[in-house]
Amino acid sequence: MPVTTFTAFFTSRCQFHPHILGNYAFFKGMDQKDKSKFPLVLIAGGGFGGLQVARKLKDMPVDVMMLDRHNYHTFQPLLYQVAIGSLEADSIAFSLRKNFAGQKNFRFRIAEITKINPDKNTVVTTIGEIAYDYLVIATGSTTNFFGNKDVERFAMPMKSIPEALNLRSLILQNIEEAVLLNSKKEREPYLNFVLVGAGPTGVELAGALAELRNHILVQDYPELEKEHMKVYLVDFQPRVLGAMSEQASNAAKEFLTGLGVEVLVSEKVESYDGNEIKFGNGKSIHTKNVIWSAGVTGVVPDGISKGSIERGNRIRTGSICLVEGSSNIFAIGDVAAMITRETPKGHPGVAQVAIQQGNHVAKTIMQLINGEPTVPFKYLDKGSLATIGRNKAVADLGKLKFQGFFAWLIWMFVHLVSLLGFRNKIVVFINWTLSYLTFNGGARLIIRRFVTEDIPLNGHLTKNDG
Ligand SMILES: Cc1cc2nc3c(=O)[nH]c(=O)nc-3n(C[C@H](O)[C@H](O)[C@H](O)COP(=O)(O)OP(=O)(O)OC[C@H]3O[C@@H](n4cnc5c(N)ncnc54)[C@H](O)[C@@H]3O)c2cc1C
Repeated sequence: MPVTTFTAFFTSRCQFHPHILGNYAFFKGMDQKDKSKFPLVLIAGGGFGGLQVARKLKDMPVDVMMLDRHNYHTFQPLLYQVAIGSLEADSIAFSLRKNFAGQKNFRFRIAEITKINPDKNTVVTTIGEIAYDYLVIATGSTTNFFGNKDVERFAMPMKSIPEALNLRSLILQNIEEAVLLNSKKEREPYLNFVLVGAGPTGVELAGALAELRNHILVQDYPELEKEHMKVYLVDFQPRVLGAMSEQASNAAKEFLTGLGVEVLVSEKVESYDGNEIKFGNGKSIHTKNVIWSAGVTGVVPDGISKGSIERGNRIRTGSICLVEGSSNIFAIGDVAAMITRETPKGHPGVAQVAIQQGNHVAKTIMQLINGEPTVPFKYLDKGSLATIGRNKAVADLGKLKFQGFFAWLIWMFVHLVSLLGFRNKIVVFINWTLSYLTFNGGARLIIRRFVTEDIPLNGHLTKNDG
Protein backbone atom coordinates (compact mmCIF):
# COMPACT_ATOMS: atom_id res chain seq x y z
CA MET A 1 0.00 0.00 0.00
CA PRO A 2 1.50 3.39 -0.92
CA VAL A 3 2.41 5.45 2.11
CA THR A 4 -0.17 8.14 1.36
CA THR A 5 -3.02 5.62 1.05
CA PHE A 6 -1.74 3.88 4.10
CA THR A 7 -1.63 7.15 6.07
CA ALA A 8 -5.09 8.18 4.92
CA PHE A 9 -6.55 4.83 5.84
CA PHE A 10 -4.59 4.72 9.03
CA THR A 11 -6.08 8.06 10.01
CA SER A 12 -9.57 6.90 9.12
CA ARG A 13 -9.11 3.88 11.35
CA CYS A 14 -8.13 6.20 14.18
CA GLN A 15 -11.50 7.87 13.91
CA PHE A 16 -13.43 4.63 14.05
CA HIS A 17 -11.57 2.86 16.78
CA PRO A 18 -8.68 4.72 18.33
CA HIS A 19 -7.74 1.72 20.37
CA ILE A 20 -6.82 -0.41 17.38
CA LEU A 21 -5.09 1.97 15.05
CA GLY A 22 -3.00 -0.78 13.58
CA ASN A 23 -5.83 -2.80 12.06
CA TYR A 24 -5.71 -1.09 8.68
CA ALA A 25 -7.00 -3.27 5.86
CA PHE A 26 -6.50 -6.16 8.16
CA PHE A 27 -8.96 -8.66 6.79
CA LYS A 28 -8.96 -9.44 3.10
CA GLY A 29 -12.18 -8.30 1.52
CA MET A 30 -13.24 -6.44 4.60
CA ASP A 31 -14.92 -3.12 4.05
CA GLN A 32 -12.42 -0.51 5.14
CA LYS A 33 -15.08 1.14 7.25
CA ASP A 34 -15.57 -2.01 9.27
CA LYS A 35 -13.51 -2.15 12.34
CA SER A 36 -12.08 -5.22 13.92
CA LYS A 37 -13.49 -5.90 17.33
CA PHE A 38 -10.37 -7.74 18.34
CA PRO A 39 -7.26 -6.35 19.99
CA LEU A 40 -4.15 -6.27 17.80
CA VAL A 41 -1.07 -8.20 18.86
CA LEU A 42 1.88 -6.79 16.94
CA ILE A 43 4.89 -9.10 16.73
CA ALA A 44 8.22 -7.48 15.91
CA GLY A 45 10.37 -10.22 14.37
CA GLY A 46 9.62 -13.57 12.73
CA GLY A 47 12.41 -15.57 14.35
CA PHE A 48 11.97 -18.50 16.72
CA GLY A 49 10.18 -16.43 19.38
CA GLY A 50 7.90 -14.32 17.15
CA LEU A 51 6.85 -17.34 15.14
CA GLN A 52 5.75 -19.18 18.24
CA VAL A 53 3.66 -16.28 19.55
CA ALA A 54 1.77 -16.07 16.25
CA ARG A 55 1.23 -19.84 16.07
CA LYS A 56 -0.15 -20.03 19.59
CA LEU A 57 -2.57 -17.17 18.89
CA LYS A 58 -4.17 -19.09 16.04
CA ASP A 59 -7.96 -19.21 16.43
CA MET A 60 -7.78 -16.83 19.40
CA PRO A 61 -10.00 -13.73 19.46
CA VAL A 62 -7.12 -11.38 18.56
CA ASP A 63 -5.69 -9.96 15.34
CA VAL A 64 -2.05 -10.85 14.86
CA MET A 65 0.34 -8.83 12.75
CA MET A 66 3.96 -9.82 12.28
CA LEU A 67 6.63 -7.44 11.01
CA ASP A 68 10.05 -8.57 9.86
CA ARG A 69 12.73 -7.02 7.66
CA HIS A 70 12.81 -10.31 5.71
CA ASN A 71 9.87 -12.27 4.36
CA TYR A 72 11.34 -15.50 5.69
CA HIS A 73 12.25 -17.23 8.92
CA THR A 74 15.92 -18.20 9.25
CA PHE A 75 16.96 -21.47 10.84
CA GLN A 76 20.19 -20.05 12.29
CA PRO A 77 21.64 -23.32 13.64
CA LEU A 78 22.36 -24.45 10.06
CA LEU A 79 23.76 -21.13 8.77
CA TYR A 80 27.28 -22.56 8.91
CA GLN A 81 26.32 -25.22 6.36
CA VAL A 82 25.17 -22.48 3.99
CA ALA A 83 28.47 -20.67 4.58
CA ILE A 84 30.45 -23.76 3.77
CA GLY A 85 28.39 -24.50 0.66
CA SER A 86 26.89 -27.77 1.96
CA LEU A 87 23.32 -26.46 1.91
CA GLU A 88 21.57 -23.91 -0.25
CA ALA A 89 20.13 -20.89 1.51
CA ASP A 90 16.52 -21.74 0.70
CA SER A 91 16.75 -25.03 2.56
CA ILE A 92 17.17 -23.23 5.89
CA ALA A 93 14.75 -20.37 5.21
CA PHE A 94 10.98 -20.53 5.13
CA SER A 95 8.47 -17.99 3.86
CA LEU A 96 6.62 -16.39 6.76
CA ARG A 97 3.52 -15.84 4.64
CA LYS A 98 3.49 -19.47 3.53
CA ASN A 99 3.98 -20.65 7.08
CA PHE A 100 0.85 -18.82 8.22
CA ALA A 101 -1.27 -19.34 5.12
CA GLY A 102 -4.65 -20.41 6.44
CA GLN A 103 -4.28 -18.69 9.81
CA LYS A 104 -7.18 -16.27 9.41
CA ASN A 105 -6.25 -13.85 12.18
CA PHE A 106 -2.66 -13.45 10.89
CA ARG A 107 -1.17 -10.78 8.62
CA PHE A 108 2.45 -10.18 7.67
CA ARG A 109 4.27 -7.05 6.50
CA ILE A 110 7.90 -6.65 5.46
CA ALA A 111 9.05 -3.72 7.54
CA GLU A 112 11.98 -2.54 9.58
CA ILE A 113 10.95 -1.43 13.06
CA THR A 114 12.85 1.69 13.96
CA LYS A 115 11.16 3.05 17.07
CA ILE A 116 8.62 2.19 19.70
CA ASN A 117 6.37 4.87 21.19
CA PRO A 118 5.16 3.23 24.41
CA ASP A 119 3.16 6.34 25.37
CA LYS A 120 1.17 6.23 22.11
CA ASN A 121 1.14 2.43 21.76
CA THR A 122 2.61 2.69 18.29
CA VAL A 123 5.72 1.51 16.49
CA VAL A 124 7.45 3.52 13.80
CA THR A 125 8.40 1.37 10.83
CA THR A 126 9.61 1.73 7.26
CA ILE A 127 5.98 1.32 6.11
CA GLY A 128 4.56 3.86 8.51
CA GLU A 129 3.44 4.09 12.10
CA ILE A 130 1.41 1.15 13.36
CA ALA A 131 -0.64 1.03 16.53
CA TYR A 132 -0.90 -2.00 18.74
CA ASP A 133 -2.79 -3.20 21.75
CA TYR A 134 -0.05 -5.66 22.69
CA LEU A 135 3.48 -5.53 21.35
CA VAL A 136 5.91 -8.45 21.41
CA ILE A 137 9.53 -7.48 20.74
CA ALA A 138 11.24 -10.53 19.27
CA THR A 139 13.95 -8.84 17.22
CA GLY A 140 16.74 -11.21 18.29
CA SER A 141 20.40 -10.27 18.32
CA THR A 142 23.25 -9.36 16.04
CA THR A 143 27.01 -9.88 16.08
CA ASN A 144 28.86 -8.18 18.91
CA PHE A 145 32.33 -6.92 18.00
CA PHE A 146 32.74 -5.47 21.49
CA GLY A 147 33.53 -2.03 20.12
CA ASN A 148 36.55 -3.17 18.11
CA LYS A 149 35.92 -1.10 14.97
CA ASP A 150 38.76 -2.60 12.92
CA VAL A 151 37.63 -6.12 13.63
CA GLU A 152 34.07 -5.09 12.75
CA ARG A 153 35.29 -3.59 9.49
CA PHE A 154 37.30 -6.57 8.31
CA ALA A 155 36.02 -9.72 10.02
CA MET A 156 33.03 -11.69 8.69
CA PRO A 157 29.93 -12.12 10.85
CA MET A 158 27.52 -15.03 10.33
CA LYS A 159 24.18 -14.12 11.83
CA SER A 160 21.92 -14.02 8.78
CA ILE A 161 21.53 -15.71 5.40
CA PRO A 162 23.05 -12.78 3.43
CA GLU A 163 26.06 -12.90 5.79
CA ALA A 164 26.41 -16.69 5.39
CA LEU A 165 26.31 -16.26 1.61
CA ASN A 166 28.94 -13.52 1.80
CA LEU A 167 31.09 -15.84 3.81
CA ARG A 168 30.62 -18.69 1.34
CA SER A 169 31.70 -16.47 -1.54
CA LEU A 170 34.68 -15.15 0.41
CA ILE A 171 35.88 -18.64 1.37
CA LEU A 172 35.62 -19.93 -2.21
CA GLN A 173 37.03 -16.75 -3.75
CA ASN A 174 40.05 -16.84 -1.46
CA ILE A 175 40.75 -20.47 -2.30
CA GLU A 176 40.47 -19.54 -6.00
CA GLU A 177 42.90 -16.64 -5.41
CA ALA A 178 45.33 -19.01 -3.71
CA VAL A 179 45.37 -21.20 -6.82
CA LEU A 180 46.65 -18.22 -8.83
CA LEU A 181 49.62 -17.68 -6.53
CA ASN A 182 52.89 -19.53 -6.81
CA SER A 183 54.54 -19.65 -3.43
CA LYS A 184 53.26 -21.19 -0.22
CA LYS A 185 54.00 -17.89 1.55
CA GLU A 186 51.87 -15.89 -0.87
CA ARG A 187 49.02 -18.38 -0.56
CA GLU A 188 49.12 -18.47 3.23
CA PRO A 189 46.77 -15.55 4.03
CA TYR A 190 44.18 -16.85 1.56
CA LEU A 191 44.22 -20.35 3.03
CA ASN A 192 44.44 -19.50 6.74
CA PHE A 193 40.98 -19.53 8.29
CA VAL A 194 40.66 -18.01 11.75
CA LEU A 195 37.40 -18.51 13.63
CA VAL A 196 37.02 -16.31 16.67
CA GLY A 197 34.62 -17.58 19.32
CA ALA A 198 34.57 -21.25 20.29
CA GLY A 199 30.86 -21.52 21.07
CA PRO A 200 28.70 -23.92 19.02
CA THR A 201 28.90 -21.69 15.90
CA GLY A 202 32.70 -21.47 15.90
CA VAL A 203 33.13 -25.15 16.72
CA GLU A 204 30.69 -26.30 14.04
CA LEU A 205 32.17 -24.06 11.37
CA ALA A 206 35.74 -25.05 12.32
CA GLY A 207 34.82 -28.72 12.00
CA ALA A 208 33.09 -28.14 8.65
CA LEU A 209 36.05 -26.16 7.24
CA ALA A 210 38.48 -28.85 8.40
CA GLU A 211 36.36 -31.48 6.63
CA LEU A 212 36.33 -29.35 3.48
CA ARG A 213 40.13 -29.23 3.68
CA ASN A 214 40.45 -32.96 4.44
CA HIS A 215 38.05 -34.34 1.82
CA ILE A 216 37.36 -31.72 -0.85
CA LEU A 217 40.23 -29.27 -1.24
CA VAL A 218 42.60 -31.44 -3.25
CA GLN A 219 39.78 -32.93 -5.32
CA ASP A 220 38.39 -29.55 -6.39
CA TYR A 221 41.74 -27.74 -6.41
CA PRO A 222 44.44 -30.19 -7.56
CA GLU A 223 46.92 -27.28 -7.60
CA LEU A 224 46.77 -27.09 -3.79
CA GLU A 225 47.95 -29.38 -1.03
CA LYS A 226 45.86 -30.22 2.01
CA GLU A 227 48.55 -28.93 4.34
CA HIS A 228 48.36 -25.48 2.74
CA MET A 229 44.95 -24.78 4.29
CA LYS A 230 44.88 -24.13 8.03
CA VAL A 231 41.92 -23.76 10.34
CA TYR A 232 42.35 -22.01 13.69
CA LEU A 233 39.69 -21.77 16.39
CA VAL A 234 40.37 -19.00 18.89
CA ASP A 235 38.70 -18.12 22.16
CA PHE A 236 39.39 -15.81 25.05
CA GLN A 237 37.95 -18.44 27.43
CA PRO A 238 40.07 -21.40 28.56
CA ARG A 239 37.88 -24.03 26.87
CA VAL A 240 35.79 -24.57 23.78
CA LEU A 241 31.99 -24.85 24.18
CA GLY A 242 32.34 -23.02 27.48
CA ALA A 243 28.57 -23.13 28.14
CA MET A 244 28.49 -26.93 27.91
CA SER A 245 29.86 -29.54 30.35
CA GLU A 246 33.59 -30.08 30.75
CA GLN A 247 33.11 -33.55 29.29
CA ALA A 248 31.53 -32.10 26.11
CA SER A 249 34.17 -29.42 25.94
CA ASN A 250 37.08 -31.88 26.22
CA ALA A 251 35.56 -34.23 23.65
CA ALA A 252 34.91 -31.36 21.22
CA LYS A 253 38.51 -30.22 21.53
CA GLU A 254 39.74 -33.74 20.89
CA PHE A 255 37.48 -34.12 17.82
CA LEU A 256 38.64 -30.76 16.46
CA THR A 257 42.30 -31.53 16.98
CA GLY A 258 41.76 -34.91 15.31
CA LEU A 259 40.37 -33.11 12.26
CA GLY A 260 43.45 -30.89 12.17
CA VAL A 261 41.98 -27.71 13.66
CA GLU A 262 44.44 -25.69 15.75
CA VAL A 263 42.57 -24.77 18.92
CA LEU A 264 43.92 -21.62 20.58
CA VAL A 265 42.18 -21.04 23.92
CA SER A 266 42.81 -18.26 26.48
CA GLU A 267 43.82 -16.13 23.50
CA LYS A 268 42.57 -12.56 23.18
CA VAL A 269 42.24 -10.92 19.78
CA GLU A 270 43.85 -7.49 19.83
CA SER A 271 43.41 -6.35 16.25
CA TYR A 272 42.71 -7.36 12.68
CA ASP A 273 43.52 -5.22 9.65
CA GLY A 274 42.21 -7.46 6.89
CA ASN A 275 45.57 -9.14 6.44
CA GLU A 276 46.90 -10.04 9.88
CA ILE A 277 45.16 -10.93 13.12
CA LYS A 278 47.11 -10.10 16.27
CA PHE A 279 46.67 -11.62 19.71
CA GLY A 280 47.33 -10.29 23.19
CA ASN A 281 50.40 -12.50 23.64
CA GLY A 282 52.13 -10.91 20.65
CA LYS A 283 51.48 -13.81 18.26
CA SER A 284 49.79 -13.17 14.94
CA ILE A 285 48.42 -15.02 11.90
CA HIS A 286 48.41 -13.75 8.31
CA THR A 287 44.90 -14.26 7.05
CA LYS A 288 42.21 -12.80 4.84
CA ASN A 289 39.59 -15.03 6.47
CA VAL A 290 38.55 -14.03 9.97
CA ILE A 291 35.10 -15.23 10.97
CA TRP A 292 33.72 -13.63 14.09
CA SER A 293 31.26 -15.51 16.28
CA ALA A 294 32.53 -14.34 19.64
CA GLY A 295 29.33 -12.78 20.93
CA VAL A 296 25.95 -11.24 20.24
CA THR A 297 24.16 -8.06 21.22
CA GLY A 298 20.39 -7.54 21.34
CA VAL A 299 18.64 -5.67 18.50
CA VAL A 300 16.69 -3.12 20.54
CA PRO A 301 14.52 -0.61 18.66
CA ASP A 302 14.70 2.99 19.89
CA GLY A 303 12.13 4.03 22.43
CA ILE A 304 12.95 1.54 25.17
CA SER A 305 14.23 3.37 28.23
CA LYS A 306 18.03 3.12 28.65
CA GLY A 307 17.45 2.10 32.25
CA SER A 308 15.73 -1.09 31.06
CA ILE A 309 18.74 -2.30 29.09
CA GLU A 310 20.81 -5.08 30.61
CA ARG A 311 24.27 -6.43 29.76
CA GLY A 312 24.45 -7.62 26.14
CA ASN A 313 21.97 -4.91 25.11
CA ARG A 314 19.02 -6.98 26.22
CA ILE A 315 15.70 -5.58 27.41
CA ARG A 316 15.02 -6.32 31.06
CA THR A 317 11.71 -8.06 31.66
CA GLY A 318 9.89 -9.46 34.64
CA SER A 319 8.71 -13.03 35.14
CA ILE A 320 5.92 -12.91 32.50
CA CYS A 321 8.21 -11.33 29.84
CA LEU A 322 6.64 -7.88 30.30
CA VAL A 323 9.08 -5.04 29.74
CA GLU A 324 9.69 -3.21 32.99
CA GLY A 325 7.14 -0.46 33.61
CA SER A 326 4.84 -1.58 30.78
CA SER A 327 1.54 -3.44 30.87
CA ASN A 328 1.38 -4.35 27.17
CA ILE A 329 4.95 -4.59 25.77
CA PHE A 330 6.68 -7.95 25.98
CA ALA A 331 10.24 -8.88 25.03
CA ILE A 332 11.29 -12.46 24.32
CA GLY A 333 14.22 -14.50 23.05
CA ASP A 334 17.70 -13.13 22.39
CA VAL A 335 16.64 -9.50 22.80
CA ALA A 336 15.27 -10.09 26.30
CA ALA A 337 16.82 -10.64 29.70
CA MET A 338 14.32 -11.95 32.22
CA ILE A 339 15.86 -10.84 35.47
CA THR A 340 14.37 -12.64 38.44
CA ARG A 341 15.75 -14.14 41.64
CA GLU A 342 16.08 -17.50 39.86
CA THR A 343 17.63 -16.00 36.73
CA PRO A 344 19.77 -13.04 37.83
CA LYS A 345 21.59 -12.99 34.46
CA GLY A 346 18.59 -13.85 32.28
CA HIS A 347 18.34 -16.96 30.12
CA PRO A 348 20.85 -18.22 27.55
CA GLY A 349 20.48 -16.95 23.96
CA VAL A 350 19.21 -20.18 22.44
CA ALA A 351 16.24 -21.08 20.29
CA GLN A 352 14.43 -23.04 23.01
CA VAL A 353 14.27 -19.99 25.28
CA ALA A 354 12.74 -17.92 22.48
CA ILE A 355 10.25 -20.67 21.59
CA GLN A 356 9.17 -21.31 25.17
CA GLN A 357 8.88 -17.59 25.92
CA GLY A 358 6.85 -17.17 22.71
CA ASN A 359 4.45 -19.83 23.94
CA HIS A 360 4.22 -18.23 27.33
CA VAL A 361 3.59 -14.74 26.03
CA ALA A 362 0.76 -15.92 23.76
CA LYS A 363 -0.90 -17.54 26.79
CA THR A 364 -0.23 -14.49 28.97
CA ILE A 365 -1.80 -12.10 26.44
CA MET A 366 -4.96 -14.19 26.38
CA GLN A 367 -4.99 -14.31 30.19
CA LEU A 368 -4.66 -10.51 30.35
CA ILE A 369 -7.45 -10.06 27.79
CA ASN A 370 -9.69 -12.45 29.70
CA GLY A 371 -8.87 -10.88 33.07
CA GLU A 372 -7.35 -14.13 34.31
CA PRO A 373 -4.32 -14.41 36.57
CA THR A 374 -0.96 -14.81 34.80
CA VAL A 375 1.79 -17.24 35.75
CA PRO A 376 5.56 -16.72 35.77
CA PHE A 377 7.63 -18.18 32.92
CA LYS A 378 9.69 -21.26 33.74
CA TYR A 379 12.36 -22.37 31.31
CA LEU A 380 12.62 -26.09 30.66
CA ASP A 381 16.22 -26.72 29.63
CA LYS A 382 16.09 -29.57 27.11
CA GLY A 383 19.89 -29.73 26.85
CA SER A 384 22.58 -28.72 24.37
CA LEU A 385 24.06 -30.30 21.29
CA ALA A 386 26.94 -29.37 19.00
CA THR A 387 28.36 -31.23 16.04
CA ILE A 388 32.00 -31.16 15.07
CA GLY A 389 31.76 -33.17 11.89
CA ARG A 390 30.92 -36.55 10.40
CA ASN A 391 30.00 -38.98 13.21
CA LYS A 392 31.18 -36.45 15.78
CA ALA A 393 28.96 -34.49 18.12
CA VAL A 394 28.60 -33.77 21.81
CA ALA A 395 25.36 -33.89 23.79
CA ASP A 396 24.51 -32.64 27.28
CA LEU A 397 20.96 -33.76 27.90
CA GLY A 398 20.35 -33.17 31.60
CA LYS A 399 22.41 -35.73 33.49
CA LEU A 400 22.99 -37.67 30.27
CA LYS A 401 26.24 -36.61 28.65
CA PHE A 402 27.61 -38.44 25.66
CA GLN A 403 29.78 -37.82 22.65
CA GLY A 404 30.46 -39.36 19.25
CA PHE A 405 28.23 -41.15 16.75
CA PHE A 406 25.05 -41.42 18.85
CA ALA A 407 25.24 -37.73 19.77
CA TRP A 408 25.70 -36.95 16.08
CA LEU A 409 22.58 -38.96 15.14
CA ILE A 410 20.59 -37.07 17.77
CA TRP A 411 21.99 -33.73 16.54
CA MET A 412 20.86 -34.54 12.99
CA PHE A 413 17.42 -35.74 14.09
CA VAL A 414 16.77 -32.67 16.29
CA HIS A 415 17.83 -30.27 13.53
CA LEU A 416 15.79 -32.04 10.86
CA VAL A 417 12.57 -32.07 12.88
CA SER A 418 13.08 -28.45 13.97
CA LEU A 419 13.48 -27.14 10.41
CA LEU A 420 10.41 -25.36 9.07
CA GLY A 421 8.72 -26.86 6.02
CA PHE A 422 8.43 -30.42 4.70
CA ARG A 423 10.40 -29.57 1.55
CA ASN A 424 13.28 -28.18 3.59
CA LYS A 425 13.43 -31.29 5.76
CA ILE A 426 13.56 -33.54 2.67
CA VAL A 427 16.13 -31.38 0.86
CA VAL A 428 18.41 -31.21 3.89
CA PHE A 429 18.04 -34.94 4.55
CA ILE A 430 18.97 -35.78 0.94
CA ASN A 431 21.92 -33.37 1.03
CA TRP A 432 23.21 -34.85 4.27
CA THR A 433 22.81 -38.42 3.00
CA LEU A 434 24.70 -37.60 -0.22
CA SER A 435 27.44 -35.81 1.69
CA TYR A 436 27.77 -38.76 4.03
CA LEU A 437 28.01 -41.28 1.22
CA THR A 438 30.24 -39.28 -1.14
CA PHE A 439 32.34 -37.17 1.28
CA ASN A 440 31.61 -34.41 -1.21
CA GLY A 441 28.16 -32.85 -0.74
CA GLY A 442 27.12 -29.33 -1.68
CA ALA A 443 27.50 -27.34 -4.87
CA ARG A 444 29.99 -24.72 -3.58
CA LEU A 445 29.06 -22.09 -6.18
CA ILE A 446 30.06 -18.45 -6.13
CA ILE A 447 26.74 -17.13 -7.36
CA ARG A 448 27.48 -13.59 -6.34
CA ARG A 449 31.00 -12.38 -5.65
CA PHE A 450 31.60 -11.00 -2.20
CA VAL A 451 33.38 -7.73 -2.67
CA THR A 452 34.73 -5.33 -0.13
CA GLU A 453 36.51 -2.10 -0.70
CA ASP A 454 38.10 -2.58 2.71
CA ILE A 455 40.19 -5.58 1.73
CA PRO A 456 41.81 -4.85 -1.62
CA LEU A 457 42.23 -8.19 -3.34
CA ASN A 458 44.08 -7.75 -6.61
CA GLY A 459 42.66 -4.24 -6.59
CA HIS A 460 39.21 -5.07 -7.97
CA LEU A 461 36.92 -5.23 -5.00
CA THR A 462 34.13 -2.99 -3.83
CA LYS A 463 31.79 -3.46 -0.91
CA ASN A 464 28.45 -5.23 -1.13
CA ASP A 465 26.07 -6.68 1.42
CA GLY A 466 25.47 -9.99 -0.27
C1 LIG B 1 25.09 -19.33 13.57
C2 LIG B 1 24.14 -19.57 14.71
C3 LIG B 1 23.95 -20.86 15.19
C4 LIG B 1 23.07 -21.10 16.23
N1 LIG B 1 22.90 -22.38 16.67
C5 LIG B 1 21.99 -22.62 17.65
C6 LIG B 1 21.72 -23.96 18.05
O1 LIG B 1 22.32 -24.91 17.54
N2 LIG B 1 20.80 -24.16 19.02
C7 LIG B 1 20.12 -23.11 19.59
O2 LIG B 1 19.27 -23.33 20.45
N3 LIG B 1 20.36 -21.84 19.24
C8 LIG B 1 21.27 -21.58 18.28
N4 LIG B 1 21.51 -20.29 17.90
C9 LIG B 1 20.82 -19.21 18.60
C10 LIG B 1 19.39 -19.09 18.13
O3 LIG B 1 19.36 -19.04 16.72
C11 LIG B 1 18.79 -17.82 18.74
O4 LIG B 1 18.83 -17.95 20.14
C12 LIG B 1 17.36 -17.65 18.28
O5 LIG B 1 17.32 -17.42 16.89
C13 LIG B 1 16.70 -16.47 19.01
O6 LIG B 1 15.39 -16.35 18.53
P1 LIG B 1 14.70 -14.92 18.49
O7 LIG B 1 13.29 -15.16 18.08
O8 LIG B 1 14.95 -14.20 19.75
O9 LIG B 1 15.48 -14.12 17.37
P2 LIG B 1 15.79 -14.49 15.86
O10 LIG B 1 15.51 -15.90 15.57
O11 LIG B 1 17.15 -13.97 15.60
O12 LIG B 1 14.72 -13.62 15.06
C14 LIG B 1 14.73 -12.23 15.06
C15 LIG B 1 13.93 -11.76 13.86
O13 LIG B 1 13.72 -10.37 13.99
C16 LIG B 1 13.93 -9.74 12.73
N5 LIG B 1 14.35 -8.37 13.04
C17 LIG B 1 15.39 -7.97 13.78
N6 LIG B 1 15.40 -6.63 13.89
C18 LIG B 1 14.35 -6.18 13.19
C19 LIG B 1 13.84 -4.88 12.92
N7 LIG B 1 14.38 -3.78 13.43
N8 LIG B 1 12.76 -4.79 12.14
C20 LIG B 1 12.17 -5.88 11.62
N9 LIG B 1 12.59 -7.13 11.86
C21 LIG B 1 13.67 -7.28 12.63
C22 LIG B 1 15.02 -10.58 12.07
O14 LIG B 1 14.98 -10.44 10.66
C23 LIG B 1 14.66 -11.98 12.54
O15 LIG B 1 13.80 -12.62 11.63
C24 LIG B 1 22.38 -20.02 16.84
C25 LIG B 1 22.58 -18.73 16.36
C26 LIG B 1 23.45 -18.50 15.30
C27 LIG B 1 23.64 -17.11 14.78
